[in-house]
Amino acid sequence: MLVSEMSRGECEDLLARIGYGCLGCARKDQPYVVPIYFAAAPGLLYGFATVGQKIEWMRLNPLVCLEAHEVLNDTEWASVVVQGRYEEFPDTPQYAQERREAQSQLEKARLLWWKTGLSAAQARWRFDRDRTVFYCIHVEEISGRRASHDPVERK
Ligand SMILES: Cc1cc2nc3c(=O)[nH]c(=O)nc-3n(C[C@H](O)[C@H](O)[C@H](O)COP(=O)(O)OP(=O)(O)OC[C@H]3O[C@@H](n4cnc5c(N)ncnc54)[C@H](O)[C@@H]3O)c2cc1C
Repeated sequence: MLVSEMSRGECEDLLARIGYGCLGCARKDQPYVVPIYFAAAPGLLYGFATVGQKIEWMRLNPLVCLEAHEVLNDTEWASVVVQGRYEEFPDTPQYAQERREAQSQLEKARLLWWKTGLSAAQARWRFDRDRTVFYCIHVEEISGRRASHDPVERK
């Protein structure tokens, strides 16, 4: 198996194609990782959620990490890691443009873009419409590794 670095363009292509990954945030040195859908745009990942643990933690500490990968088999896979910064787009006139852009990118990426975020609220029994959140992750660092079959490697 050969493992090689992916270019920034290859990393961005994978994020745009896959559209979901594991978002890591932290509070008081305790990491918390959950899967999310996102829409990838240049330098940004847009997301939609209802207020729960990850949003509360990212409000307190906006430094986050996201990992996304695709696996074809044991020796053919690709994985991208993003280090980034959370920014929320509150429902105020000041953020109207950002919210429109986030919604438009999410709609392009996934038909039922709102469904999982809203459904997550059912498990909390404290859903209220004012607590929906549009946000983005500013991509500050990105890296990728791709594994491919090595034709000279012995089985
Ligand atoms: C493929 C995929 C895509 C998703 N996309 C989105 C999305 O775009 N937006 C969105 O809001 N949610 C999405 N979810 C659901 C998401 O993973 C969380 O379950 C949900 O957002 C609730 O997270 P929270 O931090 O608000 O947890 P809360 O509702 O506040 O619950 C907190 C507790 O529940 C447990 N918990 C929460 N989520 C999970 C989980 N996934 N697995 C195991 N335990 C969990 C944790 O132990 C945590 O302590 C997606 C899930 C999957 C599998």
